Amino acid sequence: MIRRIAVAVVAVALIVCGICSTAVSGRTLEQYRAAQSQPATVRSASAGATADGDDGNGSSSRGGSSSDGTAADSENTGDAADSSDTKNGADSSKTTADGKTDGKSDAKTDTKDADIAATLASDDKAKPLTDDEKNAIRSRARATAQEAAANTGGAPLSYTYCLRTKGDVGNTTAFANIVFSTLNDPKGWPRAGATFEQVADADCGLADMDIILSQAQYMTSFSSYCSVEYSCRVGQEVIINDDRWDGGVDAWLDAGGTLSRYREMVINHEVGHRLGHIDNETTCAGAGQPAPLMQEQSMHLDGCVANEWPLDHELWIG
Ligand SMILES: [Zn+2]
Repeated sequence: MIRRIAVAVVAVALIVCGICSTAVSGRTLEQYRAAQSQPATVRSASAGATADGDDGNGSSSRGGSSSDGTAADSENTGDAADSSDTKNGADSSKTTADGKTDGKSDAKTDTKDADIAATLASDDKAKPLTDDEKNAIRSRARATAQEAAANTGGAPLSYTYCLRTKGDVGNTTAFANIVFSTLNDPKGWPRAGATFEQVADADCGLADMDIILSQAQYMTSFSSYCSVEYSCRVGQEVIINDDRWDGGVDAWLDAGGTLSRYREMVINHEVGHRLGHIDNETTCAGAGQPAPLMQEQSMHLDGCVANEWPLDHELWIG
């Protein structure tokens, strides 16, 4: 009898626990979506004059000009804490799937965990890109941007960015390398005519945008619009959530993505906002098609396959 009661108590405890965790994650997502649906003016209020969350006001400055968004971010600059500590790796609070335990899911989880571990191990060994490596990346990007501009009768656009961190995000060598090589990849925004160059820390005030790796807990310090769950963009600040940087999103990885590709997707997506794009301006065209870059792939793939590069119809700059 006592044993039966004990079993019943354990069963009830498990059910209650399961409901709790579902409710917590569901509420977080709902809060984020509620924030998404707020008018830009509401969302921008806490982040300063021109912070417009993911709305993209279409008036992005071109080239060396940085006329918009400059007022919103100065309060955060002083908090940036560069850290050279080696981070301890797989402690990120990834968005979790729904706890499937069949063999197929186990195999998927093993593959995913191995991919994440390998990527984080590679981060620890990353060395700054050499000048030769950077020049090779630059020349490919410029050739692609010039060709794209020539095709549309425009001129190539050159954007500058400042790299910053907020909180303890560990060593940032890999982050710096990946941001530079992703933004200048011929499969990415250079196809819309844009190239990207990091400025020295002393020149950060002049940069067209700040690209920030932030500890998840500080995401909302950039704007109440931002969520501890995801990355976001506020005015000129492109903020990458360190939990996502180190762990991706389960659903995206389960759909065939890798952490390296997730990182490229999130950089291109958030910088896409800075270039004038908005969330879900186009959505999945059909099952098995590549998801548009600006679809909120971290939340929903809608039957599309994971994709980290702008699609042809997304190759414009506002
Ligand atoms: Zn977005």
